[in-house]
Amino acid sequence: TKFTDLNLDPNILKAVVEAGYEAPTPIQAGAIPPAIEGKDVLGIAQTGTGKTASYTLPMLTRLAHGRARARMPRSLVLAPTRELAAQVAENFDLYAKHTKLTKALLIGGVSFGEQEKLIDRGVDVLIATPGRLLDHFERGKLLLNGVQIMVVDEADRMLDMGFIPDIERIFQLTPFTRQTLFFSATMAPEIERITNTFLQSPVRIEV
Ligand code: AMP
Repeated sequence: TKFTDLNLDPNILKAVVEAGYEAPTPIQAGAIPPAIEGKDVLGIAQTGTGKTASYTLPMLTRLAHGRARARMPRSLVLAPTRELAAQVAENFDLYAKHTKLTKALLIGGVSFGEQEKLIDRGVDVLIATPGRLLDHFERGKLLLNGVQIMVVDEADRMLDMGFIPDIERIFQLTPFTRQTLFFSATMAPEIERITNTFLQSPVRIEV
């Protein structure tokens, strides 16, 4: 498979070419086509496999046309730690650089004010740790009923850190019609249960 065969938005493809990537990794070749079609994806992959691009590239392609409204993010990426969330945000900046797509990074240890200003302006991609996202929701300034695509990254670490109740709550706050892209390095029974509950006929890719 080549990146040019994947139906990426031309502006996203341009950024991938400029990044120097020669070919999709196995998780990318497996996850990108169904994700671009709008299917739910269950990816079983470790860090270092290129999993971040395997959900970011199709997500940005699907969001490329259209604009966010104030306080209603169009997509959501949940990561277990501040560090991972910040890395996802860097990936967004790289792949979205030839688009007008916007992001906000919601992590703890930063004041709410600046993050709220970004949410108020409208963001296409909200990248967050689960607790911080719910803190913003509870303050009443963030609406989750416009979320078209929800990504859960490193679900196994979410489980280790006790975030599964938060993840379930966030699933319940987003529209039933959303697309879900769900990644975990392992499939513990609790992770299996979550995917059975919240994903709809997912395409499963294990690398
Ligand atoms: P990840 O598994 O998402 O943490 O990605 C691991 C590293 O691989 C990151 O530094 C990416 O920039 C890089 N990467 C992702 N996809 C590709 C690719 N298709 N070709 C070369 N490098 C890649």
